Amino acid sequence: MQPTKIDLLINSRWIIPVVPEGAVFENCAVAIDRQRIVGIYPQAEARNKFAADSVVDLADHILMPGLVNAHGHAAMSLLRGYADDLPLKPWLEEHIWPVESRVLSEQFVADGTDLAIAEMIATGTTCFADMYFFADRIAERVHRSGMRSQVGFTVFDFPTAGGKDPDDYIHKGLQLRDSYKGNDLIKIACAPHAPYTVGDETMRRIATYANELDMAVHIHCHETAQEVSDSLKIYSCRPLQRLDDLGVLLPQTQLVHMTQIVEDDIRLIQDHNCHVVHCPESNLKLASGFCPVGQLMDAGINVALGTDGAASNNDLDLFGELKTAALLAKAVANNAATLDAHAALRMATINGARALGWQDEIGSLEAGKSADMIAVEISSPSQKPLYNPASQLVYGNAGSQVTHSWVAGKALLKERALVTLNEQNLIRRADQWRNQISPE
Ligand SMILES: [Zn+2]
Repeated sequence: MQPTKIDLLINSRWIIPVVPEGAVFENCAVAIDRQRIVGIYPQAEARNKFAADSVVDLADHILMPGLVNAHGHAAMSLLRGYADDLPLKPWLEEHIWPVESRVLSEQFVADGTDLAIAEMIATGTTCFADMYFFADRIAERVHRSGMRSQVGFTVFDFPTAGGKDPDDYIHKGLQLRDSYKGNDLIKIACAPHAPYTVGDETMRRIATYANELDMAVHIHCHETAQEVSDSLKIYSCRPLQRLDDLGVLLPQTQLVHMTQIVEDDIRLIQDHNCHVVHCPESNLKLASGFCPVGQLMDAGINVALGTDGAASNNDLDLFGELKTAALLAKAVANNAATLDAHAALRMATINGARALGWQDEIGSLEAGKSADMIAVEISSPSQKPLYNPASQLVYGNAGSQVTHSWVAGKALLKERALVTLNEQNLIRRADQWRNQISPE
């Protein structure tokens, strides 16, 4: 029989496809054609079956789905380390918002987003959800980089550099959504900043648009205890209850943080099939509280993983985030079996895909899905000996071990080198911003 012509064949020592759950394949190959996964085969079989235009051999690597960073503010990478060791409210109100009002511009967003994209590609993320100002510039930078992203247009009730009023934010956001219709790699979502910065009328409008347009809603929610107690004082109910009353809790709603949770909150999330995005390092750094990941997962709630912005993390390495998430989930549940290694990997892949409505496209290596994949090299002393590849990825890995990355079959990282971005140029621009933001 004639071998079938395909674009790309990747031979890998180990493959963790994420679906089926817990599977680890050894000495197999992934066949890719026209941006999609054809299937996974034993290497000998694949050699006979396919004639590939390009073959990549990964002798000491784990091949797996690209990671999904389900919450962040990419451009804030230019504020990495600008204001540290402060609680959320003074951090935001006395440091982050004032510096943003001073320096925020389209160029800031373009340069910061590029810097973040470079860091994410180099550390294994192939898809990210973003929420920031000048969403049109974010989408443009994503498009140039070849990455996949849900770009959220931020909505506030007050004016910022990104808009005059709710009308203005929403109008520009919907226009952007129209202009990216049909783009396979970029989706536009509505991102009301938080319950405490968006009023009832605006929330109702957002719920209407989200319903009519089947548009995702991405919102910070129950980030701190103070957010909940303020809401009880002002609205006589918890923020999540208020979002429910205003119609914002939908199957496409992504609730970011959720560190303050009681039984009624869990019921509301279950009833509406909303998604939770857990950002453990940001929550730890701002001492915001602990998201009870094990309890949410036991309740059947989809929990995805995010880094949040680099200003509150301070890196975008989702492998580091994975380890923190796995350790923290055990401590919070007081159970070492909570969030085992494979469950943690699912949180950073298929759960993220589900949260962003991309579960049919990405999040696992399955026939028919888009070829969004990464390779992690397992050859350093700190990674040997290797008994359990999944454990190694969660408990003993760092993003710096990622060597290759593909989105829709296109290479974005080859042998640790960025393909679509100029690293030296990005570093030079970041240094220029540092001098402009905080001149010595
Ligand atoms: Zn955030």
